[in-house]
Amino acid sequence: MFRFQTRILFFFLIGCLQAVSSSAQTPPTATTDATLIYNVQVVNVQSGTVQPNKAVLLKGGKIQNVGTYAALKKGVKADRQINGQGKYLIPGLWDMHVHIEGEDLVEDNLALMDVYLAYGITTVRDCASDLGEKVLQWRDEINQGKRQGPQIFTAGRKLEGINSVWKGDIEIGNEKDLDSALRMIDNYKVDFVKITENTLPGPLFLKSVQEAKKRGYLVTGHVPIDLTIGELTDAGFSAIEHATYLLRLGNDEQRVVTMIRDGKLAKAKAGEVYSSNFDQARAIEGYKRMAQKGLAVTPTIIGGRQLAYLDRDNHQNDDFQKYLTKRFTDKYRWRIERMAGETPEQSQRRKDQVTLLMKQLPLVFDSGVLVLAGSDAAALNTFVYPALSLHQELEIFQEAGVKPADILKTAILNGPKFLGKTAQFGGIETGKEADLVLLNQNPLVNIKATQDIFAVVNNGTYYNRKTLDEMLEKARQIKLRLDSERSSR
Ligand SMILES: [Zn+2]
Repeated sequence: MFRFQTRILFFFLIGCLQAVSSSAQTPPTATTDATLIYNVQVVNVQSGTVQPNKAVLLKGGKIQNVGTYAALKKGVKADRQINGQGKYLIPGLWDMHVHIEGEDLVEDNLALMDVYLAYGITTVRDCASDLGEKVLQWRDEINQGKRQGPQIFTAGRKLEGINSVWKGDIEIGNEKDLDSALRMIDNYKVDFVKITENTLPGPLFLKSVQEAKKRGYLVTGHVPIDLTIGELTDAGFSAIEHATYLLRLGNDEQRVVTMIRDGKLAKAKAGEVYSSNFDQARAIEGYKRMAQKGLAVTPTIIGGRQLAYLDRDNHQNDDFQKYLTKRFTDKYRWRIERMAGETPEQSQRRKDQVTLLMKQLPLVFDSGVLVLAGSDAAALNTFVYPALSLHQELEIFQEAGVKPADILKTAILNGPKFLGKTAQFGGIETGKEADLVLLNQNPLVNIKATQDIFAVVNNGTYYNRKTLDEMLEKARQIKLRLDSERSSR
């Protein structure tokens, strides 16, 4: 019963030992000098408009002023004045669902911090990891300016049932375990609580949501097969991770869940019941209820799409793999192997599900649901590449028919909104944090513009294209070194 506690103590000790042995990568010396980006087109993500010919003054990690070049240039050194002619300035991008995980991938994950920045992602939300204590430590080091990387919000370790398939979770079997688990989570100082349902039974899952909520946490996770979305919402659930669960709203979810509880429907059969007889009008009513109750969703479509089209897309030559160690990409195999025995019908069902999910996206947006852009990038998520996959997810939103202005909100405004950080993030206004991306093209016209990056500002530090390329090259070199060290062992 208290198995998880000994395990956690062990993780904690290991964490301490490694903290001593590995020194943090120090960011470039923070300058007290002001930086001025002028002649630039400032994108107002809230209104979906562009303000031309603006000057944005950055100092001490904050946006000090937004105005005209003439008014703001005074006292700014010539080499710290950046001509933003023809460029578009947006706040930094937030990937609201990643996993910085893999106990044997510590260096690998650290090397990717720079890659996130080079891809314009200045904040990530880590949705639980077997590296829980380390990720918490990295979060704090980044916040204190001791380490270079995106701002991290993390769940630390997630709550699960006993003997779950996941590594490094906090496994609970009863309410007493839950209480101990939540006290442990309190000590971790996590940013939210993540709960999944591999072996955690519905009633204890629901109790976990209620208790975590009582302690003031945002609570997010999967939706157990024996609970309805409505029950979770009433218990105080804050966000559903993965849009696949929303498809239940196109059916009489209460009836299906009752059948499962009464033993009249096998859990394994529920998926089929939900995907057959999908009623679009009923689903839209469900999305509207979600919006009313303030339940957010992180769709993470990219992962399912990568898997659904493995038969069509050959990823062996994907350029991005130059940043990923062999040990990292080796972990992609488990999902591929798990799918190896699939029938053509099952394979077609995967594709149909992606199509149906994409069809839901504009309807979910129109219903007013808070949509959080997240990739689910992780070593365990096959071909969902860190940093790049957020941009691919945004492209999927666009392909699904969502307007670029609405897509930008999911990656810039909705993360801060969800985490209660709108005072500091999401806008280019005096007093906000200086996390910015300077784009060569207008993202309000085509969301792919987020991939054409001229410069990035992270916590006030300006990285030009040359520096970003050097950071990427460094990540590539670390990958090569780790691969070679590990193969010669
Ligand atoms: Zn995930």
